[in-house]
Amino acid sequence: MNTTLRIFLLLLLPLITACQPRPTGTAITNVTLIDAVSGVRRNQNVVFDGDQITAVTSSDTAPATQRTIDGTGKFLIPGLWDFHVHLTFDDNFTDSMPALFLSYGITSVRDTGGLMHKMLPVVEKMRSKDAVAPRVFFSGPLLDGDFVVYDGESRPEIGVRNSTPDEARAAIAELAAQGVDFIKIYEMVSPAVFDAMIETANELGLPIDSHVPLSMRARVAGPSVDSIEHLRNIEMDCASNAAELHETRLELLENPNGMPGAELRSSLHSLQRLPAIGTYDEEQCDQTLAALGSTMQVPTLRLGAFSLARPFRRDDWEAALSRIPPKVREEWQASANSMEQVQEYIEFGEWAIFLTGRMNSRGIPIGAGTDTPILLAIPGYSLHSELEFLVRAGLSPLEALGSATVRPAEYFALQDEIGTIDPGKKADLVLLDANPLQDIANTKKISGVVTKGVYYDREALLARLETR
Ligand SMILES: [Zn+2]
Repeated sequence: MNTTLRIFLLLLLPLITACQPRPTGTAITNVTLIDAVSGVRRNQNVVFDGDQITAVTSSDTAPATQRTIDGTGKFLIPGLWDFHVHLTFDDNFTDSMPALFLSYGITSVRDTGGLMHKMLPVVEKMRSKDAVAPRVFFSGPLLDGDFVVYDGESRPEIGVRNSTPDEARAAIAELAAQGVDFIKIYEMVSPAVFDAMIETANELGLPIDSHVPLSMRARVAGPSVDSIEHLRNIEMDCASNAAELHETRLELLENPNGMPGAELRSSLHSLQRLPAIGTYDEEQCDQTLAALGSTMQVPTLRLGAFSLARPFRRDDWEAALSRIPPKVREEWQASANSMEQVQEYIEFGEWAIFLTGRMNSRGIPIGAGTDTPILLAIPGYSLHSELEFLVRAGLSPLEALGSATVRPAEYFALQDEIGTIDPGKKADLVLLDANPLQDIANTKKISGVVTKGVYYDREALLARLETR
């Protein structure tokens, strides 16, 4: 080193010492880490600073951070996703949903359907600086066909009509310009409109979510899309007479009596769903599942198998219900009280659990979504019910955690940024009082939540609900 440089550095030295920054960041110490990639790591310190995990080390070394949270005896998992929600489904609920999600450890949500004029302000608010809200990814409206199911008549208006391929192309280009993260294709589109949607979304680099259109077979539509919701209409393609069922649907979709979209769809479900399950053919179904090999399935068992574990029968239901807006609470209590068991729903629920297990064992990626707030789904609370259902279907507790962390991240090609507990990943974490691998229901035993780099203990999150 030359002399001038040495003198310069020596002069600088006291300056450097004087400016030593005070420690920043937060450490959760001596905690057991559990994520779907690395499995279990005991006695670890996790340091995060700003919106990033900066270090994961053995708990032997003391962290130099501004704040320390003792994780002794506790378990740290990545922040959870609810991969199927509708923030704008019920205007009385929209404002309360972000805080509810966080109070249950849900730090990211994928909104799978809402009109843009409602969605855009909600997304803008959730993404604004200092907003205490989950990360949000949204599709805009359900892109339906000639007949629209969610048309604002018998159901809330969250769907839009696409009668021709040209209309479909224009609609998707417009959504892309408005900033959607993916698109959602709905059940009544024709094959020609479906193809135009796929082509346009691929050109624009948008992930594609879909129901299986009733005009198509699951094995034909499935491989073109990135995720399929509710396992819906897959049963029709697992029947011994799948081709024949498809022909019948095509005839009925001509809709000579001019039924409204919702009614037309329901009539086809009623006509084919249970008979198809009754004529389940393993060989047919294996062909369908082979075609769906890389299409993520979001079975929403909480919804589809609702009758097998009704939420209002759960011990913690009343407490959870007490935290939702009073107007919604009253409506839900009334509908829970008048709800009767329907054999058809029980049968579909059992089928949905069976098929989910079969898909998982064949390596089809599974995502955890609830359809919140549809059918008494309390935001956040219901995701934990979904995890329980996924374990009941045959996923290991670690796989179930993966379905609410790593899988959603992969869907948006964000696996390098989110979904596991590693340096460089976003600081979204949930601190649990009990081991979720021993009992998946332990994901509800929340001690604290880190969202976008800020730690809140559970009391603080609950208090946020009350001051709303
Ligand atoms: Zn939905």
